[in-house]
Amino acid sequence: MAENYRVLSGYKRFNQKNNGLMRVVWDPALKSCGERENRSIRAYLENDVPGFTRRDWAFDAATSTVVSAHGTRINRPNSGLTVWEDLDVRYNRTVPPDVGAFDASDPAETRRTVEKVARFLGADLVGFTGLDERWVYSNHYLPGTDENPPVEIPEGCNQAIVMGVSMDYRMFRTAPTAIMMTETHKNYSQMAAMVASMAQFIRTLGYRAIPSLNDTALNVPLAVDAGLGQPSRLGTVITPEFGPRVRFCKVITDLPLEAAKKSVDLGVIEFCEECEKCAEACPVGAVSTGPRTTEGPNISSNNGVLKWYLNAEKCRHHFAHVATNCGICFRACPFNKGRGVHHAIAKWMVKLRLRFLNRFLVWLDDRLGYGEQKDPAFFWNGRGS
Ligand code: SF4
Ligand code: SF4
Repeated sequence: MAENYRVLSGYKRFNQKNNGLMRVVWDPALKSCGERENRSIRAYLENDVPGFTRRDWAFDAATSTVVSAHGTRINRPNSGLTVWEDLDVRYNRTVPPDVGAFDASDPAETRRTVEKVARFLGADLVGFTGLDERWVYSNHYLPGTDENPPVEIPEGCNQAIVMGVSMDYRMFRTAPTAIMMTETHKNYSQMAAMVASMAQFIRTLGYRAIPSLNDTALNVPLAVDAGLGQPSRLGTVITPEFGPRVRFCKVITDLPLEAAKKSVDLGVIEFCEECEKCAEACPVGAVSTGPRTTEGPNISSNNGVLKWYLNAEKCRHHFAHVATNCGICFRACPFNKGRGVHHAIAKWMVKLRLRFLNRFLVWLDDRLGYGEQKDPAFFWNGRGS
């Protein structure tokens, strides 16, 4: 069984300022992206391109509402719904803090309680892990102020509750379109409400909680450590339930969960070694080919970890070109499937980690036309794809 990742000695925590999305704000190499993106949107509208019509953009704006309104930001810590302090929820009741303390003496029971709440709030996946400090950003980046303050997690907050929300298979098969991007933004809006609510639950129990979307710590290794999936060539987590079609968020807390790191083995690493469908599908060569390495192509690479590195510069430039978060690599991935016994059988075959079988499955995936773009108008026309 291949290791999910290996961290070299001398590894340095990643500075959020160097994240490809943050660099659009300050780095001359990527600064033109925002303007180019707006030009692309205008051109789509002028030409009435399916998947990028006003109706599609309006839908995307609608799904972005919760995560973009009232100060909440996907990549900014301690903002709007993701503030680190009590949200001062007023609902006509006062729960006195000094009586009826929550019994947190049994971490396994507490984990079960938290998982129930997470599922109720809409999480499709829930995992727990001790917070590995290596995955905490060294510094936040605060666009607008250009500040780059160090990340300081309150003492004792060393547990992470990792929650995943799946994205719709059919929407993602239209990638790269605005209609696909609605699925991403609906997901972030849902997660913003979810982490805020989970944090408020924990605070009301009497503990500290930091709700976080893409800020503060890296979601991919946290989700891997929580046993929710394996890292992949395209840089995201492949989960048993939804393949790469999941986004993650987390709540960092001092609630005693005593969660140990877990490791799940679906055969993803060995499969990715044979399959390069995401790399072949990427229009700009941002996904690496060949074996895993410990160094990436530019300052957006979190060097010192054995993994496949994405070229975030190329990827971000392409985002600007298509005016969306692209998603072609997700669409192309053989793990991106809907439900079905035949898919369950294929996943079982992948677990055998046989090179010839993996090659056969990649070949079959191609032959059956999985990964090809589907009609972007299906959602409005009421047709499945
Ligand atoms: S999102 Fe698009 S540009 Fe970025 S790596 Fe995937 S396919 Fe390439
Ligand atoms: S497309 Fe293939 S190589 Fe890329 S992440 Fe999916 S399984 Fe791995």
